[in-house]
Amino acid sequence: MSPAITVVGYGPAAHRLVQRLHHHGHRGPVTVFGGEPQPAYNRAQLLSVLDGTLPSGALALGPLPPGTEVRTGSRITAVDPGRRLLRDGDGGVHPYEVLVLATGSRPVLPPLSGAGDRRLPDIRVPHTLPGAEPVDRGPVVVVGGGLRGTETAYALGRAGHEVTLVHPGARPMHRLLDDRAGTLVTALLGEAGVAVETGRRAVAVEPGKIVLDDGRLLAAGTLLLCTGSEPDTVLARTARLAVGRGIVVDDRLRTSDPHIHALGDCVEAPARHATLASAWDQADALARTLSGGDGRHEPAGQVVVRPRLPALAALGPLQALDDPGDDEQVVLSDPAGGRYGRLVLREGRVRAGVLVGLPRAVATVGRLHAEDRPAPPDRLALLLGNDEEYANSAELPDTAVVCQCNNVTKKDLHEACRQGARDLPAIAAATRATTGCGSCTALVRRICESAAAS
Ligand SMILES: Cc1cc2nc3c(=O)[nH]c(=O)nc-3n(C[C@H](O)[C@H](O)[C@H](O)COP(=O)(O)OP(=O)(O)OC[C@H]3O[C@@H](n4cnc5c(N)ncnc54)[C@H](O)[C@@H]3O)c2cc1C
Repeated sequence: MSPAITVVGYGPAAHRLVQRLHHHGHRGPVTVFGGEPQPAYNRAQLLSVLDGTLPSGALALGPLPPGTEVRTGSRITAVDPGRRLLRDGDGGVHPYEVLVLATGSRPVLPPLSGAGDRRLPDIRVPHTLPGAEPVDRGPVVVVGGGLRGTETAYALGRAGHEVTLVHPGARPMHRLLDDRAGTLVTALLGEAGVAVETGRRAVAVEPGKIVLDDGRLLAAGTLLLCTGSEPDTVLARTARLAVGRGIVVDDRLRTSDPHIHALGDCVEAPARHATLASAWDQADALARTLSGGDGRHEPAGQVVVRPRLPALAALGPLQALDDPGDDEQVVLSDPAGGRYGRLVLREGRVRAGVLVGLPRAVATVGRLHAEDRPAPPDRLALLLGNDEEYANSAELPDTAVVCQCNNVTKKDLHEACRQGARDLPAIAAATRATTGCGSCTALVRRICESAAAS
């Protein structure tokens, strides 16, 4: 007999969990409480709504299996693990048998004095659909030049907005990139028309303006706060679960209470940047466990971050870049050509690296790293993308994972093409490739074109 499962949070992790429960044969009742008014959507693609590339409806994750009870706009405010009860914001009480927390992450916001005046700029946090509505009041000031803020400023600059990026670090994405890579990224932002204010914080807002910590004023019609996020552990704390940076779980995604599991961005994770791929991996593992199988979950050891800027990648652990010790290092620096690559290798395998302006290396080194395969002996050819074995998609091995978010291999794509999927929407419907962060879209298209041609 399948247990009754109650899920709190209705983001990508919860959505995939419920789908996979059905797939693995769970037939007990499933209830989902979602705090946002709309059904689950792909949060990783919010930037495409903000810059006007996609309509908000395109982010919808689709219906859940029949029989799932979904309560949107219903925020759970407390868990009573002793009596196995949930309380919602309207005073409702809901018993549970097995509880899954999928409460995701919440933004960390800076103190800004002066907020509250209606003549102020449109102040938004692009973490939810309402916060990511297309920008219609310029100029735009993006506060926070970490991964998301830099991507946001670049996308809006490319979309023709007047944008300034304000960042307290010495260079954009300073926790992810080294100095030389950061300098090239600043140049890329400049090419997209983005002015960059490094070493500065926004401290206050005034009508039509942002005040910087050196007293200067920046004109602003829209202020976007991209100042980071953290696991949302508010609900877990009401149940007195073990919580560190996120909710602590074991390799079966069990919390410190045997009747409560957790997954997605709300759990304590080894990687600094939570990803869709990891939330979806966890969803599959937990669905197997809750359907009576063995759903042991191993966090992915290799971190690959591909910001939405051209030909840019950071491969972790990033401390290895700061302190490579006795590891082999390969460096290619061509500032005039906007190209820079630095790899740290141990026993012939890429341990960490940063790549800018080297599109082929981003694809090939990223895959070598993700699959923990040995690098070819000609390291420079690898960085320049001239290595014969890895140079283009036609030579990728069948087992190469092309869409990391959904774990789709080249072989899966060929199979979908063989079965009649001819364009990207059909490929996406058949394999889910491209439906995560979207960074594999160009490669998926090339593989499918070459499969169709042959
Ligand atoms: C702007 C942005 C860009 C991103 N880009 C990428 C990317 O390019 N690649 C990538 O891999 N990842 C990216 N991510 C991360 C990715 O979106 C997350 O890893 C993913 O959304 C995690 O899914 P989740 O379901 O765990 O959490 P979330 O998506 O945060 O969903 C959690 C849901 O739970 C709800 N909730 C919380 N508490 C309660 C409660 N008490 N009661 C009811 N409901 C509750 C929340 O309202 C929310 O709807 C990005 C994230 C953001 C914000």
